[in-house]
Amino acid sequence: MEHDDSLPRYGHWIAGRSAPPAAGAYLPTDDPWDGKSWAQIARGDAQDVDAAVRAARTAFESPAWAGLSPSERGRLIWKAADLITANADRLAQIEQRDNGKLMAEVSTQVRYMADYFRYYAGLADKIQGAVIPTDKKGVFAYTRYEAKGVIAIITPWNSPLTLTSWKLAPALAAGCTVVVKPSEFTSGSMIELAKLFTEAGFPDGVVNVVTGLGQEVGEPLVTHEDVAHIGFTGGALAGRKIYELAARNFKTVTLELGGKSPNIVFDDADLEQAVKGVVSGIFAASGQSCQAGSRLLVQRSIHDAFVERLVSFMRDVRLGDPKDPATQIGPIATRPQFEKILGYIDIARQEGATCILGGRSRPELGAGQFIEPTIFTGVRNEMRIAQEEVFGPVLAVIPFEDETDAVRIGNDIDYGLAAAVWTRDLKRAMFMTDKLKAGTVWVNNYRATSFTSPFGGYKESGIGRESGIDAIKEYFDTKCVWLSSDLEVPNPFVRR
Ligand code: NAD
Repeated sequence: MEHDDSLPRYGHWIAGRSAPPAAGAYLPTDDPWDGKSWAQIARGDAQDVDAAVRAARTAFESPAWAGLSPSERGRLIWKAADLITANADRLAQIEQRDNGKLMAEVSTQVRYMADYFRYYAGLADKIQGAVIPTDKKGVFAYTRYEAKGVIAIITPWNSPLTLTSWKLAPALAAGCTVVVKPSEFTSGSMIELAKLFTEAGFPDGVVNVVTGLGQEVGEPLVTHEDVAHIGFTGGALAGRKIYELAARNFKTVTLELGGKSPNIVFDDADLEQAVKGVVSGIFAASGQSCQAGSRLLVQRSIHDAFVERLVSFMRDVRLGDPKDPATQIGPIATRPQFEKILGYIDIARQEGATCILGGRSRPELGAGQFIEPTIFTGVRNEMRIAQEEVFGPVLAVIPFEDETDAVRIGNDIDYGLAAAVWTRDLKRAMFMTDKLKAGTVWVNNYRATSFTSPFGGYKESGIGRESGIDAIKEYFDTKCVWLSSDLEVPNPFVRR
């Protein structure tokens, strides 16, 4: 690959320092707003992965890391959180230039991310085993939670640092070491984050980063014999491949995959609030969000009136430079994603859905990687536009009759990441939260997530949960210890 030597270059981050790629190859990283390359990232391979995993393995066993008490680990993590806060603007600028999200959103995300580290810093010394009452005489049984070892973290381009932190913070609190493989489209901010861990005083090799492509870096990382667990966020295709590769050595996985979440509006809802919830559900981050409410289920009696309100709310929305505070919708993060979304708009038209808003790209804006907020009505739940994840600003509207019908349509899908219900009727809300098959159900709000609360998918939306107290257990093995005070070992050949 040809290099533009005038661009800044990022190496990998291995054992506390920048490491050039073994093969000497680099990939350009582009700004989705103007389409220009602004830096190069190392194009790693199996050799780089091996160096990073070895560094992580050595650190995992070193007294400098393994010898720390959980409270000391917690204090180090807290220091890193303070450095994240101090460097939030710089990290946000790099991340924003890579993925083209609104600057306001990226800034908020990066600042909030520090709280994930503070939460797990506090949790590091609060994980307790149990004393187990047993039916065996003369023995004392208890459990210990032991750090699994080297964790592979593989993340997508839509919220790179946030989604990494959801794994990195609990993994470090548990005493693991990590090798992160960020998306090839958005690697710069992760390299900068890794440097902050070294600055905070983390021993070399605890946090490593290898950049590059999924097949060239991700696969050797997943199959490396010294990797104990894989924490992955991304699409179903890569998720399935990673699960299959991990199964070869029975490695454990946490998989946060895609979604096609139903946002369900009943006739008794506060419609003004529901409109805002539907808009933020699908059009925030230009729809490039796993939890996007991309299926709008509206009760038939209010269907036309609600759709009209929605369209009028969206009519004057401003597309433009994501760094401009007045901009409400930014570009699509990558060229392949832009093409994919346009492809789905064509599919929806061919399937017979009616486009009542948008449906076009905007070639005159920036580098032209823009898609107008798009709404399709007349959608049937079996259509591809209702079943497949578009990951863009495209909303499919489906009418329903009553609660039972809403549950049937809402659950008739392979995904189960999230769902929302808009109603003022408590009984209705409780019926829906009981019946919807999704890892998160919001009532009269959309998108709330927190470091305190578990997040993850039912069905093909994933395996395991991130955030909250239980998420740290993904990074531990449980050991049961039996201590005998009875010195007389029973004769195994005598029946008791
Ligand atoms: P992707 O699956 O293409 O890539 C994600 C990461 O996996 C990248 O770092 C990529 O290089 C790597 N990868 C790809 N193939 C691999 C392989 N064979 N082995 C190992 N690693 C491999 O996803 P994307 O396009 O970057 O992101 C969009 C997807 O992410 C969407 O489907 C979206 O729903 C999902 N997502 C899910 C969540 C969640 O929390 N559930 C959050 C954000 C995004």
